[in-house]
Amino acid sequence: MNEFDLIQQYFSNIGPNVVAQSSLQLGVGDDCAIVKPSDGFFQAMSVDTLVADVHFPAKADPTLIAERALRVNLSDLAACGASPRWFTLALTLPEVEPNWLKAFSQGLQAAAAQFDIALVGGDTTRGPLSITVAVHGEVAPGQALLRSGGRPNQLVYVSGSLGDAAAALQFMNKKLSATQQDAGYFMQRYYRPEPRLQVGGVARMVSAAVDVSDGLIADLGHICKRSDIGATIDLERLPLSPALQRSCSEVQALELAATGGDDYELCLLVPETGRSQFEELAAQFGLPVTLIGNTNRHSGVQCLYKGSPHEFTTTGFTHF
Ligand SMILES: [Mg+2]
Repeated sequence: MNEFDLIQQYFSNIGPNVVAQSSLQLGVGDDCAIVKPSDGFFQAMSVDTLVADVHFPAKADPTLIAERALRVNLSDLAACGASPRWFTLALTLPEVEPNWLKAFSQGLQAAAAQFDIALVGGDTTRGPLSITVAVHGEVAPGQALLRSGGRPNQLVYVSGSLGDAAAALQFMNKKLSATQQDAGYFMQRYYRPEPRLQVGGVARMVSAAVDVSDGLIADLGHICKRSDIGATIDLERLPLSPALQRSCSEVQALELAATGGDDYELCLLVPETGRSQFEELAAQFGLPVTLIGNTNRHSGVQCLYKGSPHEFTTTGFTHF
């Protein structure tokens, strides 16, 4: 199978009503994709590469690899308050395996359909397995959520629950034991993170946002640095899933929640005065949020456990 057949067979029709989508002037199969942005909107773009055995096990189910590749990119759009529109895919494969490609394209299709984003182009090449997805979204002028928008004396919220994806990695590395059901839950959280795109509905109440890809302390630290503020989080407030609480000691669970990456939940800063309105809107838009701390005039992220400072030996994933 040559490259053109491969693209035609597996990647020519991924996403919601690609053919009917009026914004798409030209999709997969030409030199470029050509799209028509919505009137008056800005484009938000992000790209992420997932390398086999660095970002996922090479032998993992290709459906799940595809889901994860698209979902982690969608999380970056969510963190900016943007709505998904189009994406491109660069796929490096050791060999053309029809069964692998079929399963991969099914995973891509499932995530694309769920989150309303269309594959408009890409590239395939031979080499060690790696997947690069570039997402394009749209956001209304002035509505984008930035890391730099934080101020002192604001509230720190996090969506969903933390530490589950880190627990999945520990489970895969045999450093954590869990019941079959809990392990299955952790693996779902790792491979199928939920991009919190509902945040668009509450964006006007949010001052700054980041998605938790490297770990809460590390990613909240990015907001602090860009906003020139500090933050204090109360560890006992961190939202932990029942599965995580069942599978670890409290100390272990809090460490995974505070420093483990890959959850792709959102960390949001909200002015004190907007508290009740933010919480009401979040509930209305189906965004589960937990208040975990406050910002201040210092710098960096401080953790408190029952009121006393607590230090972790690691603060999150670093790439180099
Ligand atoms: Mg991010």
